[in-house]
Amino acid sequence: MVLAQLGGSISRALQQMSNATVIDEKVLNECLNEITRALLQSDVQFKLVRDMQTNIKKIVNLDDLAAGHNKRRIIQQAIFNELCKILDPGKPSFTPKKGKASVIMFVGLQGSGKTTTCTKYAFYHQKKGWKPALVCADTFRAGAFDQLKQNATKAKIPFYGSYMESDPVRIAAEGVERFKKENCDLIIVDTSGRHKQEASLFEEMRQVAEATKPDLVIFVMDSSIGQAAFDQAQAFKQSVSVGAVIVTKMDGHAKGGGALSAVAATKSPVIFIGTGEHMDEFEVFDVKPFVSRLLG
Ligand code: GDP
Repeated sequence: MVLAQLGGSISRALQQMSNATVIDEKVLNECLNEITRALLQSDVQFKLVRDMQTNIKKIVNLDDLAAGHNKRRIIQQAIFNELCKILDPGKPSFTPKKGKASVIMFVGLQGSGKTTTCTKYAFYHQKKGWKPALVCADTFRAGAFDQLKQNATKAKIPFYGSYMESDPVRIAAEGVERFKKENCDLIIVDTSGRHKQEASLFEEMRQVAEATKPDLVIFVMDSSIGQAAFDQAQAFKQSVSVGAVIVTKMDGHAKGGGALSAVAATKSPVIFIGTGEHMDEFEVFDVKPFVSRLLG
């Protein structure tokens, strides 16, 4: 279910409940089951949905509903709060400071949009007066360096990489060192991906992190991966200390539920979302407006 439909389904479930003459436990359960179905179809992880349902039942007092309060509003507010709670891990991510060198390492599976997102992140900060630089430590995918080079050149962002060197750890360390010397304040390290979660990938991520000592590791996730989001995010979190999430491809047929899973799995906030292939199709992520949109 795409985001725009989720709000509609939840509204319909609430409307049906409001139409009932008496709101008893059965009617409330039917309404919550309907909402649960809608959330699952939007790829929100089963456990998150189940916990949410339990919490809402605790919060929503049937006596209040019977006493002529606005039932719809009470439940809608409870859902809103629960979704916000899932998306807000309680602590903000590391925030780089302009003028002080920070190393930001990007991790994610191949095809997640990692390379594109590195440039978007650099471009976003460059427009705000930062001095970003891009390091291509993806020696696994043929053409990765060319892609980064092309993007970086278009955005006039300095870059570092090699056609010859096959050791990603070495390239990452050299690139970071060079850009520190050049006084860049946002050194972005793009790493390899694989088509699936593999031990070799996670070992490589560990080594690159060890060599570059990133201030922040950003996990990049394709919003269309569905229920796989939780496990994938957790697997990355277990090998490197992921501190933030960027969800890509939120345009078009994106399902939003994976974002909730990624936050739950990494205990890190979503900081940006990708909304298209172009460099400027990139938005700061704010929990409340996102959930409002989600609920329609
Ligand atoms: P990587 O393998 O993770 O480095 O992925 P790439 O950066 O090469 O991206 C894979 C594909 O996804 C490319 O065709 C990108 O143009 C596309 N892509 C990346 N981010 C977005 C996004 O936010 N929206 C859309 N529609 N496409 C995106």
